Amino acid sequence: MKGQLPLPGFPMPVSPSCEDAMMERPAKIGDAQITYSRVGDILTRATGFMDAYDYTLNPYSGCFFGCTYCYAAFFSRDIEKRDSWGHWLVVKKNAVELLEKRKRGDLDGKLIYMSSVTDPYQPVERELGLTRRLLEAMVDRLDKPKLVVQTRSPDVARDCDLFRRIEENGGRVQINMTATTDDEDIRRTFEPFCPSNPVRLNAIGEVQSEGVDACITMTPLLLVSNPSAFAESLCDTGVQKFIAQPFHFQRGKFLAGTRDNAFDLMAEKLGCSRDSFRSKYLDHYKSVFGVLRDALPELGEGKAGFKPPF
Ligand code: SF4
Repeated sequence: MKGQLPLPGFPMPVSPSCEDAMMERPAKIGDAQITYSRVGDILTRATGFMDAYDYTLNPYSGCFFGCTYCYAAFFSRDIEKRDSWGHWLVVKKNAVELLEKRKRGDLDGKLIYMSSVTDPYQPVERELGLTRRLLEAMVDRLDKPKLVVQTRSPDVARDCDLFRRIEENGGRVQINMTATTDDEDIRRTFEPFCPSNPVRLNAIGEVQSEGVDACITMTPLLLVSNPSAFAESLCDTGVQKFIAQPFHFQRGKFLAGTRDNAFDLMAEKLGCSRDSFRSKYLDHYKSVFGVLRDALPELGEGKAGFKPPF
C-alpha cells in the first residue's frame, strides 16, 4: 500500500481528466468539500514567517478546522476559496510517492515545518492516514529530518511511535500543540470546528509523557478568563516550552494578517468598536503574557519564539 491512499468513508473520485487542473470530482460531507489532487512537490522551500526552516510540508490544502483568524486563508488563490475557508480540503494524494522519490539522505538535517497552511491532523486523517504514511516513509527511508509538527488536534498522539522511530534513526522531532484560551465560549467563537483546549492539553501532555519533545503554542493568544489558572493548566501538562503571539495586524505581500471576521468578533467580545478594539486587545494580551512569563519555565514570543528548536 506504500504510496497509495486508502479509501476514506466517502466515494473516491474518478481519475483526473486534465493533468493541469490535477483536481478530481469532489466528495461532499455536509457542506464540506473534499477533493484529491496530484501536486508537483510535497516539500516547499520555507519563506516569510517560517524562513528559518528549510521546508514546509503540507499533506493537505485547506483546513476543516476553519479558525476565524487563520492567515493561511490568504494563500488561497481564489476569493471564493478564501471566503469558504474551513469548508474545503484538498488531499495531496501523491504526497507519499513524492517523498519516496527523493534521494536517500535528502532530508538529513533539514528543518521541516509540518504544516504551515493546513493542520496535518485533519479529522479525515483518521481514515486516510496520509500524514502517518509520510512519517512512515521517513522512518522506512531512515531519514534524519529535524521535524516540527504543528497541530490543534489530539490525534497527533497516535503517531508517537513514529516520532520516536525518527529520533532513533538520528532525526529530531518536536510537537507543537496550539492552545489559545482557557474559555470554551471564546474557543467556540473563534475556533468553532476545533477540538476543545482541554482535549488539546491532555494530548500534548500524553505526547510529552511518551518521550517526544513538546511545546504549547498560544498563537494567537485569545482572551483568557483566569490567566493564573490557565498558566497552571499549561504547567500541569508537563510541557516545558511555550510560545505566545497576538493576532497579526499587518497584511502585506509576505505577511498575511488575521482575517477581518476575527477582528469583528474580538471587538464584539471586548465590547468596543472595531476602531478601538486593537489597543484593548493588546492590553489584554500584554497583561496575560506577563502572568504567563512569570509562571512558565520557557516562554518565547512571536517569530523569535518560532525559531527552530534544534
Ligand atoms: S488549524 Fe491552522 S491552518 Fe487550520 S484553520 Fe486553524 S489556523 Fe488555519
